[in-house]
Amino acid sequence: MNFAVPERPRGLVYALLPLLHFASVKLTFLCAVTPENEVVVWLPNAVLLAALLHFRGQRGVVMAALTFCSDVTANLGAFSWQEAVLLSGVNLAEVFVTYSLMRRAQTSPRLERIQDFGKFIVAGPLAGALMAGLMGAAVLKVMQGTATPYLTLVRLWWFGDGLGLLIYTPLLLAFTQPAPTMPRLHRLDIAILLLSLGLAVVVFTSRGGQIGEVSVTPTLLLPSTLFLAVRFGLRWTALGVALISLLLAWVLSHGHQPFGAVDIHLEIVRAQEFIFTLCTIGIGFAIVLAQLTAHERELEHKVRERTQALESSNTRLATLSATDGLTGIANRRRFDEVLAGEWRRAARSGQALTLVMLDVDFFKAYNDHYGHLAGDDCLRRIAALLSAQFRRTGDVLARYGGEEFVLLTSAHDAADAWLIAETARQSLQTMALPHAMSPFGTVTASLGVAMHVPVVGESVDVLLRRADQALYQAKAQGRNRTSQ
Ligand code: GH3
Ligand code: MG
Ligand code: MG
Repeated sequence: MNFAVPERPRGLVYALLPLLHFASVKLTFLCAVTPENEVVVWLPNAVLLAALLHFRGQRGVVMAALTFCSDVTANLGAFSWQEAVLLSGVNLAEVFVTYSLMRRAQTSPRLERIQDFGKFIVAGPLAGALMAGLMGAAVLKVMQGTATPYLTLVRLWWFGDGLGLLIYTPLLLAFTQPAPTMPRLHRLDIAILLLSLGLAVVVFTSRGGQIGEVSVTPTLLLPSTLFLAVRFGLRWTALGVALISLLLAWVLSHGHQPFGAVDIHLEIVRAQEFIFTLCTIGIGFAIVLAQLTAHERELEHKVRERTQALESSNTRLATLSATDGLTGIANRRRFDEVLAGEWRRAARSGQALTLVMLDVDFFKAYNDHYGHLAGDDCLRRIAALLSAQFRRTGDVLARYGGEEFVLLTSAHDAADAWLIAETARQSLQTMALPHAMSPFGTVTASLGVAMHVPVVGESVDVLLRRADQALYQAKAQGRNRTSQ
């Protein structure tokens, strides 16, 4: 059992508990006791059981004492005080045995899984009520000297108490939990509810379980119960099942014979069999559906979580695949993509595109002299310098490969384009990273600049080739210069 959230009964509960118990006794006598004094269903024991389950057994003794007093008071009308005390003791024992068995079997007190409902049926309606039947029948036999055979008394007590627990415990538990959200009533819901109501009226008013040649037994109401389970969940199914059961007990105890004109004892057993079927199937079905819905929600939640994780890792992957691992600026793949896009846009708008290609001078010698790691570091510093330099929106700086960088930008005219590149070259020279193997003594670069207004259908290679040619020219003219 889940004792994780202990919640103690408070003052109002102590007042309401015996009242509810007493009202349940009255309701039982009103609805479910035949003129022959046979109890079709005995509801009151479920009140203490539901309270024990709801409060996880806390203050169980106080709650038991209160319902015991109410039980004795109710019994005093029909029995001597000794009998009343003994019979109420039997009821108390039934509830405690049921509760203990459920606890031992680690039953969830809210009966929210079908396994829990199964354990409840075994512990209460089967075991607890049978034990009470054996004890109660003995009390009646010994104290009252009843003529009815002992085993008949046991059966009457067992079935009545068992069904009372089965009908009333899930109902009370369902109504002590926070209200679930109600689905919106559609026209079809209203139509089916009205139809079910009409059917119930026909079933419970037809004497002898038939109208003419047509059989109209309460079995017809089973589909309506399943409808309640599907559309409205456990709470309303438990209520529907309880109402049908009590109504059936009431018509039975008022001389109707909804299961055909048979002997009253057989009629009662048939009614009890029907109530058992109705409760187990109706409530069991509602529990299974609730479980499935909860499971589905859990799965949906997990799928949502996984999708989010996948999306963020995709974003990370996209960033990674677009970034150069050494310098952290855009890589060639990203540059090619951007260039293709900008090329198409410029072709449509008639705007010029400027491409600057930068190649570090004597870099092989730098590596050979300072080592590859120092070479890497040098490339990182050049990349940092260039990205600080080219921050205009629309500028795209990328590592094109090895010790080559490219910048895609827009310039007003050729002079502007040249200036952009030349400024970069000068900044690198100003940074003055030592390069012992270069005739300039510091790390320098040669730059080629190309400017072009693309036309639709023209290949980007035009611009790349031109920038490359300009760079070649800068190298050929002695390096550390900008050529156009
Ligand atoms: P030039 O002035 O004609 O450009 O001469 P260069 O030595 O710079 O040109 P070359 O193409 O002969 O050599 C380029 C060198 O750049 C060769 C290679 O070792 C180095 N290089 C390319 N990628 C990397 C890198 O990621 N890290 C380091 N440390 N070196 C690299
Ligand atoms: Mg090179
Ligand atoms: Mg080079």
